[in-house]
Amino acid sequence: MKAFIGTNIIDVKTESILQDQTIIVDGPSIAQIIPSAESSNLNLDSMEEIYDVSGLTVLPGLIDCHDHLASKNYELISRWNLDEPASTNSIRIYKVLEDTLQSGYTTIRDAGGLDAGYKLAIEEGLCEGPRLVLAISIMSQTGGIGDRVSGSGHTNGLVTNPMLPNAVVDGPDEIIHKLRELVRCGADVIKIATTGGASSRKGLGPRDTSFSRSEVRLIIDESARLNKKVMCHALGGPGLRVCIEEGVHSIEHGCHLEEDPDLVKLMAEKNVFFVPTFTVYDYHKSHSAPHVQVRAQQLIDQHRRSFEIAMKEGVKIVAGTDAGGFIHGDNAHELELLVVNGMTPMEAIKAGTITAAECLEVDDCVGSIEVGKVADMIIVDGDPLKNISMLRDRNNIKHVIKDGKNIPISKRIL
Ligand SMILES: [Zn+2]
Repeated sequence: MKAFIGTNIIDVKTESILQDQTIIVDGPSIAQIIPSAESSNLNLDSMEEIYDVSGLTVLPGLIDCHDHLASKNYELISRWNLDEPASTNSIRIYKVLEDTLQSGYTTIRDAGGLDAGYKLAIEEGLCEGPRLVLAISIMSQTGGIGDRVSGSGHTNGLVTNPMLPNAVVDGPDEIIHKLRELVRCGADVIKIATTGGASSRKGLGPRDTSFSRSEVRLIIDESARLNKKVMCHALGGPGLRVCIEEGVHSIEHGCHLEEDPDLVKLMAEKNVFFVPTFTVYDYHKSHSAPHVQVRAQQLIDQHRRSFEIAMKEGVKIVAGTDAGGFIHGDNAHELELLVVNGMTPMEAIKAGTITAAECLEVDDCVGSIEVGKVADMIIVDGDPLKNISMLRDRNNIKHVIKDGKNIPISKRIL
């Protein structure tokens, strides 16, 4: 058992701070939380480890609902894993996992590109990394965002990792076969795309439709049969409408929702989660290919208005960065941007902890600091409720605890 003495707990369930508490962790779980004034009742001598964390703040381990841990940029040669040996790439991904965990992110939903072998390695204790919820591959139709094509018109005939199947599908038979294959490969959630995006090829824009309504319906039904939820990349236009009306579990990006306010109401009614991903557009507006920069500039204001309407209508909003094409390990940038765009720091922290855990269906074990839950928590020097940006600075992260285990924090390695 270990004791963390004197900390201020951010209680995301009651939206309050519990001052000067002592947390007892037994194995992977939180065993007891009591005011430090009463800790004389505890037999501290029996503790294997005691941490004096007086004046520090503890919050639940952070959760990013939309990451691409295996991606490192938007170049086709890199997306096809042709730019470096597989071994180098694998070790690079391992470093990303380790670094992301050390930044305070104890749970990540990977929205495509990470194979289940990394999850297995973490669970076996071969390496440290966040708890993972995996989409494996992005399912789209021919010409959709998952169908990457070179300027010469070539598709990648060299895909050799059977754990990351190509998920380009057209029509019912291919859809059913691919869903079953993805689940066999370890998909915890099914990721589909019903529109283009900011970074997709010219001719496939944010309002351009991909899957048909009947294909979306089939994907949701067959996924439900396989006990999986569907997360849907959708920015605007008919593809956004179809996936909300048919009832996907979460909308990723949703930048143009404000053009269809009735859809926002429908999301609230149907309990569809909204994952805005401000971080990726903040990146695209200045760093990407010219046509991507133009798209990003055009959709940033709408994205903010969509977010404001969703907050007003009571849609459950969760934090997701869409990291992968750009820097890893700065996932808390999204929490900062949620606040810049109108959330209170407490709302942003909930979006990155308890509400995110609900979206990932792991709220029975993580997402809040409560007796009986798994001890996934971070202890920081400072008050993120006063300054959310402090979570981006690694120097402020004093302890990262996952599954009750203290994770050594090194200097940033990426
Ligand atoms: Zn993404």
